[in-house]
Amino acid sequence: MNIEDNIRQFQKRLANTSCKLVAVSKTQPIEALQQAYNAGQRIFGENKAQEMAQKAASLPPDIEWHMLGHLQTNKVKYIAPFVHTIQSVDSLRLLEEIDKQAGKNNRFINCLLQIYIAQEETKFGLSVEEARELLATETLQDFRNIVITGVMGIATNTSSETQIQQEFKFLKNIFINFKKTYFSESSEFKEISMGMSSDYQLAIVEGSTMIRVGSSIFGARN
Ligand SMILES: *Cc1c(COP(=O)(O)O)cnc(C)c1O
Repeated sequence: MNIEDNIRQFQKRLANTSCKLVAVSKTQPIEALQQAYNAGQRIFGENKAQEMAQKAASLPPDIEWHMLGHLQTNKVKYIAPFVHTIQSVDSLRLLEEIDKQAGKNNRFINCLLQIYIAQEETKFGLSVEEARELLATETLQDFRNIVITGVMGIATNTSSETQIQQEFKFLKNIFINFKKTYFSESSEFKEISMGMSSDYQLAIVEGSTMIRVGSSIFGARN
């Protein structure tokens, strides 16, 4: 695996699209991230707060860090000083804590609502109903230091392209619906984060604005 070559290939693939690449670097050593950085990659995704904080401390400051994994409220403080986007928001309580910690650091944190789109039991996320309930909560207006910038979803791990395609279409429709209902005045609600190594091509066709790719860039994780 030549990480720099892989990054350049993704840059080419995405050149004429409005889709961005999140390089998913969880479990990878600093040197691997540095190689991706050297090839021009600036958005990195991690799934553990402390691992992200350690890596951020030893890499250049112009990296956009995205949290992708389920985040416990007591871990938000580790990443609040620098994290760009938390893609895995799955409760109002977490959103409250992100707002509080972002406020303490005098900054804004972008948040994506993670929506449950897969037909698998183990995935975290909000059902559409739960997401609607969250977005209709009155206290949401009081948050000062978060910006809800879109939705994120993980498709079922299956060889059925039809199923994956349906799940991506579902997420796109949820985005359109939420945009109309809750964010018609907000130009910042614009991200649909979907697509990983195995299904990013389908995701791009279905309107992804952010693909999250790990193993196709860095190789298999241990
Ligand atoms: C690990 C992970 C990815 C990347 O998975 P690959 O199959 O290695 O591309 C993408 N999104 C989330 C939420 C992840 O946890």
